[in-house]
Amino acid sequence: SSRPTKHFIEQAIDADLAAGKAKGVFTRFPPEPNGYLHIGHAKSICLNFGLANTYGGTCNLRFDDTNPSKEETEYVESIMDDVRWLGFQWDSLHYASDYFGQLYQWAEKLIQDGHAYVCDLNAEQTREYRGTLTEPGKNSPYRDRSAAENLELFRKMKAGEFPDGSRTLRAKIDMASPNLNLRDPVMYRIMHAHHHRTGDEWCIYPMYDWAHGQSDSIEGITFSICTLEFENHRPLYNWYCESLGIHHPRQIEFARLNMTYTVMSKRKLLQLVKENHVSGWDDPRMPTISGLRRRGYTPQSIRNFATDVGVAKFNSTIDVVRLENAVREHLNRIAPRRMVVFDPIKLTITNWPDGKVEMVDAINNPEDESAGTRSIPFSGTLYIGADDFREEAPRKFFRLKKGGAVRLRSGYIIDCHDVVKDDDGNIVEILCTYDPETKSGQDDSGRKVKGTIHWVSAEQAIPIEVRNYDRLFAVENPNQTDEGQTFLDHLNPDSLSVTEAYAEPELAAARPEDRFQFERLGYYVVDPDSTDEKLVFNRIVPLRDSWGN
Ligand code: ATP
Ligand code: MG
Ligand code: MG
Repeated sequence: SSRPTKHFIEQAIDADLAAGKAKGVFTRFPPEPNGYLHIGHAKSICLNFGLANTYGGTCNLRFDDTNPSKEETEYVESIMDDVRWLGFQWDSLHYASDYFGQLYQWAEKLIQDGHAYVCDLNAEQTREYRGTLTEPGKNSPYRDRSAAENLELFRKMKAGEFPDGSRTLRAKIDMASPNLNLRDPVMYRIMHAHHHRTGDEWCIYPMYDWAHGQSDSIEGITFSICTLEFENHRPLYNWYCESLGIHHPRQIEFARLNMTYTVMSKRKLLQLVKENHVSGWDDPRMPTISGLRRRGYTPQSIRNFATDVGVAKFNSTIDVVRLENAVREHLNRIAPRRMVVFDPIKLTITNWPDGKVEMVDAINNPEDESAGTRSIPFSGTLYIGADDFREEAPRKFFRLKKGGAVRLRSGYIIDCHDVVKDDDGNIVEILCTYDPETKSGQDDSGRKVKGTIHWVSAEQAIPIEVRNYDRLFAVENPNQTDEGQTFLDHLNPDSLSVTEAYAEPELAAARPEDRFQFERLGYYVVDPDSTDEKLVFNRIVPLRDSWGN
């Protein structure tokens, strides 16, 4: 899709390039490897990589791995997979932990220049001294240590001579600043923790603000794009670059993606996984990229969605229907059509020659002529969906009824003359005749019927398992809870129903991640749980939105 005007970030970039303030567009996507990426991250990926593509610049992937306690290599791998799957390739790969040495040297420089000091207040005292939005903070009693003393203490911190939490290194800025981030922010804390890459080399770890902007600077990033929560961190971002006199990227904030019927905080997603409310990070109901992938979303539909929702300066919540429509729209163009019968009921054609099997041609995709046709076996014993038949039906029921006629898609027009019932009065078989003059594509009978239904030939049909997924949460905003409730109380108890179905034999060749439109039902994808014995399909989305949108 295309946009008529440039968004505010592109406008800011254009202005900086024109004024010579930036020499090019060098961006980065900087995830913390503490969970799997979700659809919100996809928006940031599309934005950062997209800008680099648009302007002929570069985009790096940088793991913001400065917090050793929550980070794991598993997450690093999954993040790389997800970025590539979305269709992007980073220009270079970095880890913030690779910069620990440079950051340390810069910290010593700030100490020598009188811009940083070692503080002996503990975490709680530091909080108390910081003040509040309405009250200025108080200077730490350790604020006026000499550069020499600070340097000696800082080196001892690094050498592991002090226990966790006993001291910090702080930037010396302004305890009365109206911006709390400028009230002598902590740059380093002591943490004797094992790091996934640096092992036990460090026992002091940089705080986010100290590491982030300096990493951007080292990589020569020109536009450091982040979400709105960091707007009031920008003065600190600028302060660090200016105090060090190093390359100074421009931070620009945009509104993070929020979406209805889901949660997006990694903490909550982790809880869903750890407490087995879902089958894993890639459960097809998860808003993670790996979940959307397993659900059957195409990378292009996610990129189209990101373009469609655009880039804004104010937070809002996007209706999940827009994501669902994006995949519907893409799959309508590319997904081959197949016939699959749920809740099957037997239909016998009483005037069909005994044992005869006839191949009929079916169009693979009416939206794409190049997709061609396939042939499907037609016989005297078929299955149709029980829903498509009523013994007695209102006039507006255009499917099959007793005494009525319907076209079998790509087959013939049939007339229903009777039903067979079991002892309890349930219909177990529908009896019809076919009209030999009405074969699809060769019909010059002039006969017209209102309805067309799908079917499979009983003998050749293959049994499949279908997992009909629905939204994971039953309410628009699962984060909003009453007292004593958590977001888990809003889980949709009907988010998964598993059924057996019969598919036309062509589907036997389908492989994991192949996507189809099951005619008149919805879009489905082959799940990796499939075996040689049985294919498993996940519902991506129904053909139309059944939630009334
Ligand atoms: P969470 O709050 O879920 O833990 P995070 O922001 O801490 O997310 P990071 O791994 O630090 O996660 O995010 C990497 C990048 O993705 C950051 O630049 C961040 O701004 C961006 N990002 C994260 N969530 C969203 C979102 N919902 N919408 C847009 N961008 C996002
Ligand atoms: Mg973060
Ligand atoms: Mg986070």
